Amino acid sequence: MKRILVCDDSEFIRKLVKRELESRYDMEIFNDGAEAYEHLKEGDTNFDFAIIDGEMPGMTGWELVEKTKSELGLEDLPTVILTASDSDYFKHKAFDSGVFDYLKKPFKSGELFNYINEYFEGKLNRGTVLVVEDSKVQNKTMSHQLKLKHITPISVFTGENALKTLMDNKEIDAILLDINLPGANGFHITKALKNDERFSWIPIIGITAAENEDRVDIMNKAFQSGVDDFISKPYILVEFIARVTSAIKSSKLIQKLKEESEIDSLTKLYNRRTFFRLLEHYFETSKRYGNELSFIMIDIDKFKNVNDVYGHAGGDMVLKELARILQQLIRKSDIVGRFGGEEFGVIMPNTNINDASAAAEKLREAIQTHTTQFDSQDIKITISIGVSEFDEKDNIEKLIKKADDALYKAKELGRNRVCLCDNKNNSISQL
Ligand code: GH3
Ligand code: MG
Ligand code: MG
Ligand code: MG
Repeated sequence: MKRILVCDDSEFIRKLVKRELESRYDMEIFNDGAEAYEHLKEGDTNFDFAIIDGEMPGMTGWELVEKTKSELGLEDLPTVILTASDSDYFKHKAFDSGVFDYLKKPFKSGELFNYINEYFEGKLNRGTVLVVEDSKVQNKTMSHQLKLKHITPISVFTGENALKTLMDNKEIDAILLDINLPGANGFHITKALKNDERFSWIPIIGITAAENEDRVDIMNKAFQSGVDDFISKPYILVEFIARVTSAIKSSKLIQKLKEESEIDSLTKLYNRRTFFRLLEHYFETSKRYGNELSFIMIDIDKFKNVNDVYGHAGGDMVLKELARILQQLIRKSDIVGRFGGEEFGVIMPNTNINDASAAAEKLREAIQTHTTQFDSQDIKITISIGVSEFDEKDNIEKLIKKADDALYKAKELGRNRVCLCDNKNNSISQL
């Protein structure tokens, strides 16, 4: 059973909260701030949620929250403050104290119960948001607020880590970006993302706590650097959620359109056009920074036979399975695309030709041993692979041509094998 800390000096409210929640939650109820604080300090901190009255004699709820977070390390404890008026929330800089919401009392019957249930049962994921905020307390706060509305937060504390996270995570729908970060600030991060085709479509919401003219100035700069929306702290929870939700909505739409124009509908791999664009991107990156880059081209052996024996639907099934296996076996940072018909390409950034050839051999072997089930028949195929490596003297066409020549050689030597093209003398050899 989830355990909730309740603290309110009014007996009426204590009874009300108890009646609302006792059927489903385990509660520890305190009459004032000092009593709750002492209890927590003694070591019983195992709570899943806290409901605390803002105004109490002695230690106020705001003080209690601040103390529990700063002194007792309970930064993770999601806390709502009960207030008599909306303005209390701002008077007390709720945002800075790490409170994620406030509830106006008294509440209608069922209101609190639904609120808490929604918090704990929010299984439905409406989207994933990268929260880039260096203040630990504020990062936690925003994350709790998002979770409350069934939005999954991923927390990072620096711009550099935001970029890293984006590289390995394909499911981020929107970014909440604190402008004032140590190291690369929000403007830098925004510019970097908006100039990178892989991420430029992701909506960015800039956030700042600056006031008055500073705020306008920062907002202007943020929009110039490319943010899609902007929020000032402290914000109203409703507005915050509305803006994030709207960003997620447009993001989902963009993703759908992107998918339709970039992805091959049969194999769900990048289509030829997109794959070329990505190859250009990596080629240019290698040219600029001297990174290693390998390219492999894969062609199914005697695929015409598959179509002839099992029909076009059987052939399609084989293509789908091959795509799935390739995707599964390559590294996350590698990129696989459908080049055309029964030809596939893999871009391997930061990989030399020896490692790329070893990877190619692994793919060849996996396909050879795999069986595709179709119409209760077993279809076996093999693939031939050509491997080439980036050379700063070459252009992109040359890189592709070398892989293609190696592939041709693999076919000539009898298929079901890997050949590679050596940059030194353009000679092709079998692995
Ligand atoms: P090789 O070993 O020399 O590569 O022989 P192959 O039969 O695979 O060579 P070829 O390139 O001549 O034949 C490719 C075949 O792939 C012809 C084409 O009908 C088939 N193909 C291309 N795209 C699709 C597709 O989307 N679905 C199906 N089922 N077949 C396709
Ligand atoms: Mg900051
Ligand atoms: Mg073929
Ligand atoms: Mg072919």
